[in-house]
Amino acid sequence: MARPRIVIVGAGFAGFTAARTLSKLARGGAEIIVINPTDYFLYLPLLPEVAAGILEPRRVTVSLAAALPDVKVVLGEVEGFDLDGRTVSYRDPDGGIATLGYHRLVIAAGSVNKLLPVPGVSEYAHGFRGISEALYLRDHIIRQVEMAANTSDPAERDARCTFVVVGAGYTGTEVAAQGVLYTDALVKRRPELQGRVRWLLLDTADRVLPSLDGRLADASDGVLRSRGVELLLRTSVKEATEDGVHLSTGEFVPTKSLIWCVGVRPDPLVADMGLPIEHGRLVVDEFLTVPGHPDVYAIGDAAAVPDLTRPGEITGMTAQHATRQGTTAAKNIAASYGTGRRRPYRHHDLGFVVDLGGLDAAANPIGLPLSGLPAKVVTRGYHLLSMPGNRVRVAADWLLDAALPRQGVQLGLVRGAAVPLDSTSA
Ligand SMILES: Cc1cc2nc3c(=O)[nH]c(=O)nc-3n(C[C@H](O)[C@H](O)[C@H](O)COP(=O)(O)OP(=O)(O)OC[C@H]3O[C@@H](n4cnc5c(N)ncnc54)[C@H](O)[C@@H]3O)c2cc1C
Repeated sequence: MARPRIVIVGAGFAGFTAARTLSKLARGGAEIIVINPTDYFLYLPLLPEVAAGILEPRRVTVSLAAALPDVKVVLGEVEGFDLDGRTVSYRDPDGGIATLGYHRLVIAAGSVNKLLPVPGVSEYAHGFRGISEALYLRDHIIRQVEMAANTSDPAERDARCTFVVVGAGYTGTEVAAQGVLYTDALVKRRPELQGRVRWLLLDTADRVLPSLDGRLADASDGVLRSRGVELLLRTSVKEATEDGVHLSTGEFVPTKSLIWCVGVRPDPLVADMGLPIEHGRLVVDEFLTVPGHPDVYAIGDAAAVPDLTRPGEITGMTAQHATRQGTTAAKNIAASYGTGRRRPYRHHDLGFVVDLGGLDAAANPIGLPLSGLPAKVVTRGYHLLSMPGNRVRVAADWLLDAALPRQGVQLGLVRGAAVPLDSTSA
C-alpha cells in the first residue's frame, strides 16, 4: 500500500461524514475506501414520509459515487476483522468473500431493529429501519384499505382498518402521525371506511417521545390526539398473532398491521469482535479510538462514545451525534498523520425536530420550544440543510404533495417476507 489506506465500514451518517471530511483533508494523499451494502447514503429521518407516500423512495437516498467522488466505494457487508493483521473481510453482493488491508479503520456500521422477547413479534411485526421497510409499509397500508373496502365481513374490515404502532419514540410517533393522515387521504373516496380507521400508538413509558424534551412530547401528544390516534401509554404487547395483538392491559386488538418501532440496537457485527462493549456498542475513548487499538476508530450508533457534556453517560443514538463523530474521527485520523491536532469528541445537544405531517411539527432548536407552523418551517429547513444531496428533489416532492392529492397505489415491489423484523438472522 503506497498511500495510507483508510477503510470505513458503513456509509450512514457517521461513515459518510467521516469519508467526506477525510477526502477534503487528505486531498488525494490517502486512499479512502468505504464498504457499504448499498451504493447510497440513506437519510433515515425522512423515511416516515416515504411510508406515507409524500416522498418517492429515491429522494432519501444520496449516491455515494456522486457525493464522494474521491472515495472508493466497495459494495459489500463486512463480516469480520483481523485487528492484528489489519484486515477486514466482507461479502460482496454476489456472495463472494474478499479481504482488504488498512492502516486506519473506522467502524460505523450503525444499528438494526431492536427485538424484545415477545411471542409472535418476530413473525407478525415489521420494523422501520430502511427503504424496503418503508416501501413495504406504504404498500401494506394501501392494501389494507383496499381489502377493507372489498370485504363484506365487518370483523375483517375492522382488523384491516386498525394499525398498531409499538414504540412512541421519534420513529413511532412520526410513523403514526404521518400514517393517520395517509389513511385519511386514502379513505376520502371510500365513504364506507370513513370513521372506521384506527391508529394506536403504544409505549411502556408514561408519555410519547420519552427520551426527548417534555415540551416536544406535549406538542406531539396534542397533535396525535387531535387526529384521533389512540395513545396507549404504560402499555406493551404481550403476544402477537396472525389475527391481532394481546396487550398488557388484557385487551385483544384485531389487526393485520403491527409496526415495530421500539428502537434500535447496535449492529451485531461489533458484538462479535471480542472487544469491550457497553449497551451492545463498541467502547471507545473520547478521541473515538478503540482502547488498545489506536488505529481503529468507532463512531455513530455502533460506538459507545463517552458524552463529555454529561459525565458518566454515553452519547445518544442520533444522526446529530453520528454526523459530528464522523467529522471528529476524520480530523483525528488526519492528526495521526501529522495534519492538525487530535481532539476529544464533545458536542452539546442542539435540539431535535419531529415532523408530524400536515402543517404540524415539534422542534426545540437550541432549546427554544416550537410547535405548529414555525416548528414545521424549522423542521423542513433543518432536513433540507442536513441532507447531503437531493434537496431540490425533496423540496419538489413537498410542493407536489401540498398541491396535489396523495397517490394511493401499491407497487408490490417489497413483500412481507423480504423485510423480516430480525434481518440479522436472515
Ligand atoms: C426511521 C428513523 C428515523 C430517524 N430520525 C431521526 C431524526 O429525526 N433525528 C436524529 O437525530 N436521528 C434520527 N434517527 C436516528 C439516526 O438515523 C441514527 O442515529 C443514525 O443513522 C446513526 O448513524 P450511523 O452512521 O451510526 O448509522 P446508519 O446511518 O444506520 O449507517 C450505518 C451504515 O452502515 C451500513 N452497514 C451496516 N452493517 C454493515 C456491515 N456489516 N458492513 C458494511 N456496512 C454496514 C448500513 O447499511 C448503513 O449504510 C432515525 C432513525 C430511524 C431508523
